[in-house]
Amino acid sequence: MPLPPYRIKVVEPIPFLGPEERAAALHAAGYNPFNLRADQITVDLLSDSGTGATSAAQEAAAALGDESYAGARSWFRFRDELAELTGYPHLLPVHQGRAGERILFGALLRPGQICVSNTHFDTTHANVELAGAEPRDLPCPEALDLDSPDPFKGNIDLTALAELLSGPEGGRVGLVLMTITNNGLGAQPVSMANLEAAHALCREHGVPFFLDAARFAENAWLVREREPGYHDWTPRAIARQAFDLADGCVISLKKDGLSNIGGCLGLRDDDLYARCEANLIATEGFSTYGGLSGRDLERLAVGLREVVEPAYLAARAAATARLAQLINDAGVDTVQPAGIHALYLNAGRLLPHLTPAEFPGHSLGCRLFLDGGIRCAELGSLYLGTMDERHRLVTPAPFELVRLAIPRRVYGQEHLDHVAETLAAIAKDPERVSGYRIVSTPPMLRHFKVRLEPIRP
Ligand SMILES: *Cc1c(COP(=O)(O)O)cnc(C)c1O
Repeated sequence: MPLPPYRIKVVEPIPFLGPEERAAALHAAGYNPFNLRADQITVDLLSDSGTGATSAAQEAAAALGDESYAGARSWFRFRDELAELTGYPHLLPVHQGRAGERILFGALLRPGQICVSNTHFDTTHANVELAGAEPRDLPCPEALDLDSPDPFKGNIDLTALAELLSGPEGGRVGLVLMTITNNGLGAQPVSMANLEAAHALCREHGVPFFLDAARFAENAWLVREREPGYHDWTPRAIARQAFDLADGCVISLKKDGLSNIGGCLGLRDDDLYARCEANLIATEGFSTYGGLSGRDLERLAVGLREVVEPAYLAARAAATARLAQLINDAGVDTVQPAGIHALYLNAGRLLPHLTPAEFPGHSLGCRLFLDGGIRCAELGSLYLGTMDERHRLVTPAPFELVRLAIPRRVYGQEHLDHVAETLAAIAKDPERVSGYRIVSTPPMLRHFKVRLEPIRP
């Protein structure tokens, strides 16, 4: 087992509530973990976004942050680091990934156009629609078999992409956006071969080819481990190869930027850059800070170097794989093969006594909190299903999953063992997990603010 290449210098206490306190907290939260207070949670696996720990080197750099309104030293440090990593001639900072999506799609997509992806992330999907365009997902067929050990289930379906581009709708395709790794579909990586082939199809049809590269380093690591011909490459060189194939990228730096906030746009086209920059200045901030402080830019400049260190990526990948093994050994299936930033539990299979309308993924998530103080996110019918006006499920999601997202450099092996042990105890008597029904839903983005109640209290 590779050792994490760091030790701990600063710690933060985590709370331990008793079972009755947790039950009361969940009741008060309307049985929605998004409404829990963070100080009620022992191990928080809700998201890997902005939740990582920074290094002493990042905090030392932050102390030198230059907060000048324009042309700050920190901007040049950030820009130079990002330019060396990605090779893009034009770079724009944004406060987080979705701001970059909004600016890019507003400048690049026209109403009625189609944006094609291996899978759009949820905010990406929403921002394509806000630009008046249609998001279309073309995941590879292996992605829909949760148990398939195929190494690159994040790939786009090249046959479907070729058919779309040369078919009657081909002229409407305004952008092909590859999400690396495929966060919306099991944290699965995209192979370099798939990126190269998708790039060639886009060239042939004159369609812009972009990366949604929130996990560029983790994708590079999985390419190194799984794709023939890359084992001697550095993660940095593999990431660069991916950036080289694309006309540009949008990155949420809250993931592989190893920072609590930040994002960026990388572009080659001068005219597209000019339009994005104008929008950025109007809505995010001047183009040398984009809504970030000089201190954030400094942390990012260092984080972008630390994240591609092989020893860091090896230890992180091994920690996730070990947790997957413990969970699988306890009789709980996860989407195969394990990725790096998250594990996806197959709650539908663990809890066959619950129908999709009783939200098995949500039920398992609530049980993990009640039994172990663990918070995670449902990715099943509560999030993706369609409901009638009385909140009853009409069309279930294809799978009932729960995502355990692993914050970077935050939890030790004991914390992850606690998650596996809590799940193992649930798996011994799964019928104890009862279902939920919806009490009220907000008008949009249901999963964030929905309130529920247990069917059998
Ligand atoms: C997190 C994420 C985004 C959005 O970024 P934010 O920083 O949360 O706004 C977009 N795409 C992918 C793949 C992501 O994981």
